[in-house]
Amino acid sequence: MLNIEKLKKVSKNMGVKYFGVADLSTAYHEILKQGGSDVAKYPYAISIGIVLPNSIIERLTKRNEKEVIIDYMSHSYDIINQRLDNITSLLGSLIQAEGYDVLPILAGKKVSQVRLSGSFSHKLAANLAGLGWIGKSCLLITPEDGPRVRWATVLTDAPLEIKNKLMDNRCGECNKCVDICPVGAFTGREFKEDEPRDKRYIAEKCDQYLSMKREPIKICGMCIYICPYGKKN
Ligand code: SF4
Ligand code: SF4
Repeated sequence: MLNIEKLKKVSKNMGVKYFGVADLSTAYHEILKQGGSDVAKYPYAISIGIVLPNSIIERLTKRNEKEVIIDYMSHSYDIINQRLDNITSLLGSLIQAEGYDVLPILAGKKVSQVRLSGSFSHKLAANLAGLGWIGKSCLLITPEDGPRVRWATVLTDAPLEIKNKLMDNRCGECNKCVDICPVGAFTGREFKEDEPRDKRYIAEKCDQYLSMKREPIKICGMCIYICPYGKKN
């Protein structure tokens, strides 16, 4: 049995706030459809999350300004993705050294232009690890930091002891992300396991909106900015 506490300590020392383990068996078919059998063969996942800098998310209301764009893209994507990838690579090496198979999933990988998603959903792993719920924005919402977290995952066949419970959806009557989206990409429906994502989120609308912007680097992030669970006074 893996020493999960040791892996958690290693991760926390490298700036990870959210760390959890997930049994993926209930999502097998969904994972198979998205990533194929090389991804779906792993029964367990370790989910890690690093909190985005609040100062940068709070400036997203000025998201057409060059400095805001550069800070957001650098800190919220390039740098944090790189940090996450370094940590999942390290965790992968430590687990493999114990004799198990691992597949670290890159934090920012997009492989499907149709679904505009990666080979594996980090949100799914974090959700199954009990770290948050899927909000009306289709983002993973944590009670303390809302959607202001970036995620990465290590898939493994190492048998992990799962103690967590799924977190209840706490969106309730809130519709802030639905209302603020400039292109109405969200339908306002709550997440349901058996419903396809496009019932809740029309990803093409978001993508087209960003591609229409005049700035060379295009950002929005209003659905991250507005969520009351991440807002800091
Ligand atoms: S990033 Fe902006 S356009 Fe895209 S879904 Fe969020 S609020 Fe809508
Ligand atoms: S803004 Fe409101 S509805 Fe949207 S994800 Fe956050 S809590 Fe849920």
